[in-house]
Amino acid sequence: MIDAAVEQLLRKEKKSYVIPADVVANVTATNTLEHAIMVLSKVGYSRIPVLDADDHLQGMISLAAITNQLLQVPGAAVDQLSNYTVADAMLPIDHWVDDPTKLETILNYLIDEPFIPLVDADNVFQGIITRREIFKRINYLAHNLNNYFEVTPLADKTGQTEK
Ligand code: AMP
Repeated sequence: MIDAAVEQLLRKEKKSYVIPADVVANVTATNTLEHAIMVLSKVGYSRIPVLDADDHLQGMISLAAITNQLLQVPGAAVDQLSNYTVADAMLPIDHWVDDPTKLETILNYLIDEPFIPLVDADNVFQGIITRREIFKRINYLAHNLNNYFEVTPLADKTGQTEK
């Protein structure tokens, strides 16, 4: 369980830490890998979500997954990228949340993932929660904890306080 005081400060800023779907770069499974690599290069991210025509979250595509797909084709060259689609290289979604207030889950997932997709109950993509947005809140917490709470070290069993 996240400490209530910590959770309260992580949520202090009114602005949501969710980057809304309309500003998240994405591709569809039917796009060619050539298109996907162009989008990834343009936005400068190594991994973006794959959505279907109705905005359902389908997977992830990354530069590494595209390279991996190319390496499986004997003699493949970059000009072959237009012969394959995102579906050929798409990665499964390992972690996602359907509720942006599930901070404990989000923090756990962000240990291993640079961002977590947010979907609604019908798996329609709502946006992403990134390490950067959460780190901004943690930075605020680290600098402001004692402006909101009195933090006193607990005495250990010998009566000494923790160093
Ligand atoms: P950050 O914590 O800002 O470095 O973002 C972590 C990851 O989230 C990036 O490497 C991208 O894979 C993804 N990401 C962040 N912002 C966007 C965006 N606007 N569109 C697509 N993917 C994004």
